[in-house]
Amino acid sequence: MDVVVPPEFQPLYVTDRDHPIVKIPEPVLRKKAVEVTKFGKRIQQLGDNMVRLMKAANGVGLAGPQVGVLERIIVIHPGKKPIVLVNPVIVKREGEEIGEEGCLSIPGLYGDVKRSEFIEVEALTLKGDPVAYEMEGYAARIVQHEVDHLDGILFIDKVDLATLHWMNPNERLREGQ
Ligand code: ZN
Repeated sequence: MDVVVPPEFQPLYVTDRDHPIVKIPEPVLRKKAVEVTKFGKRIQQLGDNMVRLMKAANGVGLAGPQVGVLERIIVIHPGKKPIVLVNPVIVKREGEEIGEEGCLSIPGLYGDVKRSEFIEVEALTLKGDPVAYEMEGYAARIVQHEVDHLDGILFIDKVDLATLHWMNPNERLREGQ
């Protein structure tokens, strides 16, 4: 679907040095990201930078393409502590749950998306060590949303169109992914 940004939301769609998160219709958001193969200072800095940007934007998740980097790295912040996942793969899914989502790359737009309720995700840390997490509910939803970003998929591709609506994100905290 094509998103038509209402005039009052257009200021949120600026991307510049002070607002580095990439917004639609930037083509990088529709490309498939490649696996990270080298671990070291660069990827560590990228991960740290993504955590910082996610927090600064009051987000709960951020994926490489959203900062213009076509590599398979996501950061999520479902609870107390942010988690960085490199080359994440969802290896198991169970159940279904409908919940509202937004996206830092489509600020102001929200709608209901059906996701798996439980997932198991395997990934690497910023140092290249394997990790695995079982997640449910909100955390599982964020991971599914971010992994979709790595394949050029946005929540508006999966949203229940009847629920899609605009709302000023400054009136809501910790919504964007
Ligand atoms: Zn998003």
